[in-house]
Amino acid sequence: MSTVKRQLEPVPFTDVTFDDAFWAPRIEVNRTVTIPHIYRQCEATGRISAFDLNFQRPVPSPIVLIFGDSDLAKWIEAASYSLASRPEPALEALVDQVADKIIHAQQPDGYLNTHFIVAQPEMRWRNLRDWHEMYCAGHLIEGAVAHYRATGKRKLLDALCRYADHIEATFGREPGKKRGYCGHPEIELALVKLYHATNNPRYLRLATYLLDERGNQPHYFDIEARERGDDPAQFWAKTYEYCQAHVPVREQGKVVGHAVRAMYLLSAAADLAHENDDPTLLETCERLWNNLITKRMYLTGGIGPSRHNEGFTQDYDLPDETAYAETCATIGLIQWNHRLLQFAGDSKYADVIERGLYNGFLSSLSLDGAHLFYENPLASAGGHHRQSWFECPCCPPNVARTLASVGQYFYSTEEKSVWVHLYAQGSVKLKVDGRDVSLRQVTKYPWDGDIKFEIGVAGLQSFTLHLRVPGWCERWRLRINGIPVTDLEPRANGYLAIEREWQPGDVVEYGMEMPLQMVWAHPAVRYLQGRMAIQRGPIVYCLEGVDHETIVLDRIALDPKHVLSNEFGLVHQDDLLGGVSLVRGRGCVVDESGWEGRLYRYREPSSKTIDITAIPYYAWDNRAPGEMRVWVRAML
Ligand SMILES: [Zn+2]
Repeated sequence: MSTVKRQLEPVPFTDVTFDDAFWAPRIEVNRTVTIPHIYRQCEATGRISAFDLNFQRPVPSPIVLIFGDSDLAKWIEAASYSLASRPEPALEALVDQVADKIIHAQQPDGYLNTHFIVAQPEMRWRNLRDWHEMYCAGHLIEGAVAHYRATGKRKLLDALCRYADHIEATFGREPGKKRGYCGHPEIELALVKLYHATNNPRYLRLATYLLDERGNQPHYFDIEARERGDDPAQFWAKTYEYCQAHVPVREQGKVVGHAVRAMYLLSAAADLAHENDDPTLLETCERLWNNLITKRMYLTGGIGPSRHNEGFTQDYDLPDETAYAETCATIGLIQWNHRLLQFAGDSKYADVIERGLYNGFLSSLSLDGAHLFYENPLASAGGHHRQSWFECPCCPPNVARTLASVGQYFYSTEEKSVWVHLYAQGSVKLKVDGRDVSLRQVTKYPWDGDIKFEIGVAGLQSFTLHLRVPGWCERWRLRINGIPVTDLEPRANGYLAIEREWQPGDVVEYGMEMPLQMVWAHPAVRYLQGRMAIQRGPIVYCLEGVDHETIVLDRIALDPKHVLSNEFGLVHQDDLLGGVSLVRGRGCVVDESGWEGRLYRYREPSSKTIDITAIPYYAWDNRAPGEMRVWVRAML
């Protein structure tokens, strides 16, 4: 049996710093605005006082409050990541206070879920399919691990170990245990983190059990439904595809159901493929990845087109204006691809991470840091706007924890290699072959593809520097200490591998050409035929109403020949939308004249030329509210 162990080790975000104009200010807004904002919202909505266990709650409505514990847990995780990068005594004291409240709510047997302690104690562990108990446990575990790693304090970690022990004593294949698993995967990947934080292999075995048991017959969700007196056939979603439990994980052929659940489950599958050296799980990941990336992902890295199941539908079903594309789903996509990237350093996974980060993830957060999208459609008639909070607020703390730890996606190491997956100005501290190495990127990325790497080694040191050639990049050039390198081609995994004995002061200049590109969708995507999108580097562009007053965006058409000619140009504006490169050019718009009093007519409409401005998709809805459109009509 071949080994499938990960070859690469991600460099933790605590060793990565940004001093650029793109990520650094966003991380700072997250620290100073978003994280405090989420705390206040958790407080105002009773998510913190819930742990005092004296609340009155209508049962079981609204059902979303059943998983309120998870929102606070993700805030702890976000705040802990922020503390790990930048100590802040007041925030640390606040996290401690919240941790104490959580610990205080824990029951003598280790159980820890405010809803089922207070509101429905008789229903504890009786509806794993719908009620998110293990999901909440998983987020609390992730929060506890982050808190422990940031502060060295074990109290919350120890409490969550007791909860995990309780879960292990309740569920499993041993006699007397229930053979259950959660309808919303999450605890599986959290238990792998708990295993690493504690070195306790029981948590890894529990994660493995939960993943392996999923979808087996007789079906646990049927059994528990009958035990509650419910008819399993009355399950609102009709199919266990909704929670990826229709068949065992290794037998799943397509990525289906609720998109966030799918991504968390597959992240755990990637973790367990590595931990248990299990090629069948890696094959499952690769099979589902191919389905997702070649047939079911939006250009922005959004996934899950349907509001009905917050998830997947059919291959090539990618409507733009009604796209659900939940923020959490793109975050899950990034987490899963980050895990897959570490196996063999295949750049196709880093391409997905980059696409998600710069587009469907960043779009979720307003520039002021206090407003968010839950859904990230690729077109809007003007009614879609960020909100300060949601009845189901899974996305805001998920955005905060991702931004606070975004550095984790940029670099990996291997025994004698350094891998650079993503580009941004800043520095990283690494250990290569047991020796300290630093690397500094000087760049205006993502607005410019030129990157200067300053290599920091103490003396002569041999290692291979792997630089990703992004999927969008067709031409690049390389110079080492000013001397052009012309005989190096990317390896099959999409990275340039520079093998060299490095010395102090070495400089690598890597220039990725970053022209405007037009993007076309597969002919089977019926919503997008005759349309094109503009991309430059990793950034997907859109048209926004505020730049095209009095014009309906859907009436605009662009000439592909113009986009690639000097009729289209870039303008960088530091003072607009946090600093963006705009795309300016000419398009056509259908003329409204001669339509008065008619719905149809026999004469062909006329059109006129207009100026168009495209902005990065992630930056839309930060000015006057209005329309937005990524996929624009093409004049063919
Ligand atoms: Zn969400």
